[in-house]
Amino acid sequence: MATTLVEPEVQEVGKSKSSTKYVYSFGGGKADGNGKMKDVLGGKGAGLAEMTNAGLPVPPGFTIQTEACREYMRQGGVSEEVDRQMDAALARLESLQGQKLGKGDNPLLVSVRSGAKFSMPGMMDTILNLGLNDESVEALAKKSNNPRFAYDSYRRLIQMFGNVVLDIEKHAFDEVFDGKKKQRKVKLDTELDAKALKEVIGEYKKVVKKEAKRDFPQDPHEQLVMARDAVFRSWQNERAKHYRRINNIDDMLGTAVNVQAMVFGNLGETSGTGVGFTRNPAIGTKEFYGEFLMNAQGEDVVAGIRTPVHISELEKIMPDVYRQLHEITTRLEQHYRDMQDFEFTIQEGKLYMLQTRNGKRTGIAAVRVAIQMVEEGLITKEEAIFRVEPNQLYDFLVPRLDEKKAKVEVLATGLPASPGAAVGQIVFTADEAVEKAGHGAKKNPVILVRAETTPEDIHGMEVAAGILTSRGGMTSHAAVVTRGMGKCCVAGAGDIHVDEKARTMTVKGQRFRDGDWISLDGTTGRVIKGKLDAIPPKADDPELLKLMGWAEPFRKLRVRANADIPRDAIQARAFGAEGIGLCRTEHMFFAEDRIPHMQAMILANNEKDRRQALKKLLPMQRSDFIGVFKAMDGFAVTIRLLDPPLHEFLPRREDLMVDIAVLPNAGAKEKKAMVEKYGRFGAKGAGDLKKVLPTLLRRVEELHEFNPMLGHRGCRLGITYPEISEMQARAIFEAAVAVAKDGVKVHPEVMIPLTATLKEMANQAAIVNRVANEVFKEKQRKVDYMVGTMIELPRAALVADEIAKEAQFFSFGTNDLTQTTFGFSRDDINKVLPTYLAEGILKQDPFAVLDREGVGQLVKMATERGRKTRPELKVGICGEHGGEPSSVEFCHQIGLNYVSCSPFRVLTARLAAAQAAAVDKLGVEGGRTK
Ligand code: PEP
Ligand code: MG
Repeated sequence: MATTLVEPEVQEVGKSKSSTKYVYSFGGGKADGNGKMKDVLGGKGAGLAEMTNAGLPVPPGFTIQTEACREYMRQGGVSEEVDRQMDAALARLESLQGQKLGKGDNPLLVSVRSGAKFSMPGMMDTILNLGLNDESVEALAKKSNNPRFAYDSYRRLIQMFGNVVLDIEKHAFDEVFDGKKKQRKVKLDTELDAKALKEVIGEYKKVVKKEAKRDFPQDPHEQLVMARDAVFRSWQNERAKHYRRINNIDDMLGTAVNVQAMVFGNLGETSGTGVGFTRNPAIGTKEFYGEFLMNAQGEDVVAGIRTPVHISELEKIMPDVYRQLHEITTRLEQHYRDMQDFEFTIQEGKLYMLQTRNGKRTGIAAVRVAIQMVEEGLITKEEAIFRVEPNQLYDFLVPRLDEKKAKVEVLATGLPASPGAAVGQIVFTADEAVEKAGHGAKKNPVILVRAETTPEDIHGMEVAAGILTSRGGMTSHAAVVTRGMGKCCVAGAGDIHVDEKARTMTVKGQRFRDGDWISLDGTTGRVIKGKLDAIPPKADDPELLKLMGWAEPFRKLRVRANADIPRDAIQARAFGAEGIGLCRTEHMFFAEDRIPHMQAMILANNEKDRRQALKKLLPMQRSDFIGVFKAMDGFAVTIRLLDPPLHEFLPRREDLMVDIAVLPNAGAKEKKAMVEKYGRFGAKGAGDLKKVLPTLLRRVEELHEFNPMLGHRGCRLGITYPEISEMQARAIFEAAVAVAKDGVKVHPEVMIPLTATLKEMANQAAIVNRVANEVFKEKQRKVDYMVGTMIELPRAALVADEIAKEAQFFSFGTNDLTQTTFGFSRDDINKVLPTYLAEGILKQDPFAVLDREGVGQLVKMATERGRKTRPELKVGICGEHGGEPSSVEFCHQIGLNYVSCSPFRVLTARLAAAQAAAVDKLGVEGGRTK
């Protein structure tokens, strides 16, 4: 998320604690705070203050600011001053309302809600109906003339308070409630009458006593203090921490607590509650968009427990309230100059606004809304550029289902909650999703199928390819969270029955179990049986082009792509890549038809045999280079010489040892399989195995390394086997000359990997230059080219001024540079990373987000030193960080020439680079706290 740097704590140096304003009141048409104070009041608190000041119908209350939360984190409790100011604010609220908290004939009841600077939907805790106890519930029953409502409110309080404040598992309460429904032979919660609910309350209190070893607190003030502290604690719960990590929200911000007079949406048929958006958050169309439920409390809508009704229905039921809501939210949008996400409650026909904030939206909606708002004169084009998160552009690149190739059986149509397509195997729990989704090469697409998701499912949602829920609306947890993640989701597919216990999904009389394949279309809401293919999208959406057209003129950094084969190069160019920043030539060697020649080259024990094998590889490499050069006509193409350790091309040592051990007793079938496996190494028949296998093992052992990442790779390969570099250079220049003859503008940049010293660089550059001249002479044609290096080792960064004597360009391989700077193995970091993140030792995965303080300083220093020697030195970055917005911003700030990233991140990098430059030029608020 585009974030601003954290503002300093409110308390200024030198000021005493007692001068800190911890509590901000709002109500009666005026508020202590305002909408700009998100750091202090949190997003919700700032919105409530702003709405109050604007004269909107907001239930009064007060906000305890984020500094109190930080104090709670530091000291395990708040200071007496916080208590004192809270009591004063409560007294003010009581006098404004003419009520007393939990006391008298007309008791004041309040909600206690979290609200951080950045919205973290459902991640922290909320308590409603606070102030109810055995006495005030009777007063409420009398006053409302609705005992059922009063008892229901009380049992909800005990349940929420028990769970959130006293840490009692939800199911302990659910068991009581479901048991009561069974006993009364009813299906719906609303069918339980006042008497039954009173009995539920009695049993809930027993649950509290048993589980928490104390009584449910009857003193309303004690309830308030305990609830406030629990909300502060909820900032540190696992799901909140997880959410902050994936959204790059600073752990030190803390949450505010909003205490607000309750209004009730469940007072009968003229009451209700709902949420909405001023525009469609999924596709960005300008329509009043929302959902509500009559006779319900807010949690029923947001939690997706009952499927809500479209807001247009409200116009039929309560036309005046609808008009007022429409008018207020339109005003709010004009005021904030952004699409609003709002919550409202209607209590006995009277409308109250409970929240407004800038709404979360898909990338497609973000672009559309930004363009509409420019056209409506609400924002400028420059502002529009910042209304889209660079990562959101990925939504334009999400795949669609290929419906032509397969028979499409639509099982159900739910809500198109988050666009794109997902094809995967069903899992029914978040844990199972994590277990089955796998990693890296073993990645396995899963679809998480739930009746509804809750914040506890976040880890499963993160790894799933898509999410399907049978309940909940467009604003349910599943819908909101997946849209934020840019992940396909179909929500509220009511025809599907999900039995999480039995781990089955039943629809149209068919039963599906875990492991069965389904396909989701998040753009239309369809759930399709079986495994459809997904087709890649095109990045030529006219609105996307328009927004990029506004952003691009600011951009200073060039954006290239990492692409190894012509197909990827063509794709990258379509996304706007301005050249290739990294072509990993070993990927060409790994191809099925080439690996035997590569292996023959490795097994050769003399130069002659090695050259023989390399000769076979040459035409294959040349033809790939021709394709890549053609795709990038007019742009530079950086080709890296062979990098990985040679043993990666050979069978695993352990496999060979096992096969050698098994061979003496192997039957005909096993031997046949071995001949197939080792045929390419000279085993033509079973009789050869005895000789071939030990020879192969010997070579594998010769090449075996304890630390291959630090071993015989990179330029070390080209130095020990110069014929490899020679062959590659020849393939590059022959290809370049060939396409140049056809009129292609070709600019090869030959890149030497893993250099640490000037002499290494000089050694390889000499080979490349010699071969270039040979080819130019033979072909009677020259092309412009450069020889440069990757900077992937701290030593290279330190002696960059030396290396630049030979290197005409630098490209930072920040994957290896991160590995070698931290000393973290890039393949094994996941063993420590989760703990490091959870403990706050690292803020982000340094392999995903460039570590500015460490690795970034090496990049900066090496660039400066290199340019001292060679002022025109071209410098780029080609590690994974090249497509990550914060890292791109850093590259802009330190004056690199380009970033290079995978083709699917090119658009993101382009916008991130444009935003970084626009921040400078326009002096607007920007920057990313990474
Ligand atoms: C790097 O190290 O950043 C890099 C781009 O090279 P590779 O990932 O191939 O090691
Ligand atoms: Mg590398």
